Amino acid sequence: MTGIIISDNTQHLAIPALPEFLRSDLTQCANLPSLPSAAVRVLEVAGHPDATLNDYAHAIEQDPALTLRLISLANSAFYARHHTETHSCLEATSRLGLDATLAAVMSFSLWRGCRSNDQLQRIWGRSFVAALAARYLAEQLCPAQASFVFTAALLQDIGMLALLAVYPADAHELYNSAPVNHLQISQGEHMRFGCDHPSVGGWLAARWGVPVSLAQVISDSHGELTSQDETDLFCVRLSGMIADAWLSTNPSQSLSVLMRRLNPIVTTPSISLRDLLNSVQRQLPPLADLFDLTAPSAYDNEALIIQAQQLLFQQTLSLNARLDAQQHEIDDLQQRQTELEERSRRDILTGLSNRAWLEEQLHERFEYCKTHGYTMSVVFIDLDHFKKLNDRFGHQTGDRVLERFGQVLSSLVREGDLAGRYGGEEFLIILPNESATGAQRFAKRIAKRLSETPMETVDGQALYVSVSIGIACLSDGGFGNGRELIDAADQSMYFIKRTGRGGISMYGH
Ligand code: GH3
Ligand code: MG
Ligand code: MG
Repeated sequence: MTGIIISDNTQHLAIPALPEFLRSDLTQCANLPSLPSAAVRVLEVAGHPDATLNDYAHAIEQDPALTLRLISLANSAFYARHHTETHSCLEATSRLGLDATLAAVMSFSLWRGCRSNDQLQRIWGRSFVAALAARYLAEQLCPAQASFVFTAALLQDIGMLALLAVYPADAHELYNSAPVNHLQISQGEHMRFGCDHPSVGGWLAARWGVPVSLAQVISDSHGELTSQDETDLFCVRLSGMIADAWLSTNPSQSLSVLMRRLNPIVTTPSISLRDLLNSVQRQLPPLADLFDLTAPSAYDNEALIIQAQQLLFQQTLSLNARLDAQQHEIDDLQQRQTELEERSRRDILTGLSNRAWLEEQLHERFEYCKTHGYTMSVVFIDLDHFKKLNDRFGHQTGDRVLERFGQVLSSLVREGDLAGRYGGEEFLIILPNESATGAQRFAKRIAKRLSETPMETVDGQALYVSVSIGIACLSDGGFGNGRELIDAADQSMYFIKRTGRGGISMYGH
């Protein structure tokens, strides 16, 4: 295994560039966590495609303390599925597998200087919980990558070690503040250092020559969970969140938040948080023992999960209630809006369309007919001698006549026609796809109805009205817009006024 030069892999990482000052401080820092030479040699071996277990074992054996640790790890309840004890580094390495050996070498090496420091103990405590959770997840979702995922999860916070070494005061203050999750820590790091510990960790790992795939997952380890994540990355990201929840001051609350986040994400097979927590709980003490670490406190997982589910249920109920209330409000607003719009189109006295709506509709329908080669007609109606009627019977009677006339119109129009009050005692009806003679038939029906039906009874006396009607049809003139069509119908109506009232005139006929 000679001749392999350990490489600085940082340029192969797809991470946002570290701020220049940070990179230079990290590069120059003498206290940066570093790897003992045995670990460096193991990394060299790991970087070689043809590396064998033998090569690993040789590299590790250079460091007796490391060798002992590895053998006790392989013999621990954690790995020993059969009862035969391993005594050699080679046996230990083969029992652990290459990825787990690498993880163990790296974490033992980094862990050496940390034992007396509470803050570092806490950081590693989270890493252990995360690593166990990640391995459980990977065993369900991507068993072939379980060791890789375990390693990545275990090393996901090494950036914190680096930041603590380079900026002890700032990092100390940031990591020591009330228990917070790593999402919040990352935000604080961005504000102070211009980037967060996962990026620094990925960079550091790549500088040590750790395989790029591993360094990349470390630097991506703290992102949001999405269904599109590669499965190994998904396991590592979720493992950190589980560790945060486990170590938070209110685990059931934190777990319920996590459950909500997980709800929309489908995994195959589906993950049981209960089994996951039980598995972490079982494996944590032996792993912590191996590292002389005080294991983070244990929980009654059954109670924890039930509490978290209850919280989630309550939150969902109150969320649903809020959503229902909001939906009601939106429905009410929409209904009010529709009513207002409807009302803004109506004439109050007759309930027919008002002038503004008539003109808007005429404009639209005119353009539509022009474009598609259809015809249309408008009928303009003015009640005769209405002033006299008001003078004689009073304004209120006049109003009732207008109202009644509106009803007559409504009863005579067909679906798709639009009848409205154009002004005081003037009415306009738009007849889509209707020729002048068709419009004339319609006008005749109105005149006939008015001659048969009194609009009002005053002092027992029936009050009839007559109307002057003008008709204009789109096909009968070179009309440029709806306005010209109304004017033409109005002119025809005035022709009737001039010739004695009570009749129908068609423009251009
Ligand atoms: P002509 O046969 O030439 O149309 O005569 P006219 O009296 O009907 O026409 P003119 O335009 O001289 O007068 C219209 C009258 O309609 C005057 C106005 O007081 C009346 N009028 C307009 N709006 C209303 C209304 O909302 N209610 C009532 N009662 N009368 C109205
Ligand atoms: Mg008039
Ligand atoms: Mg009139």
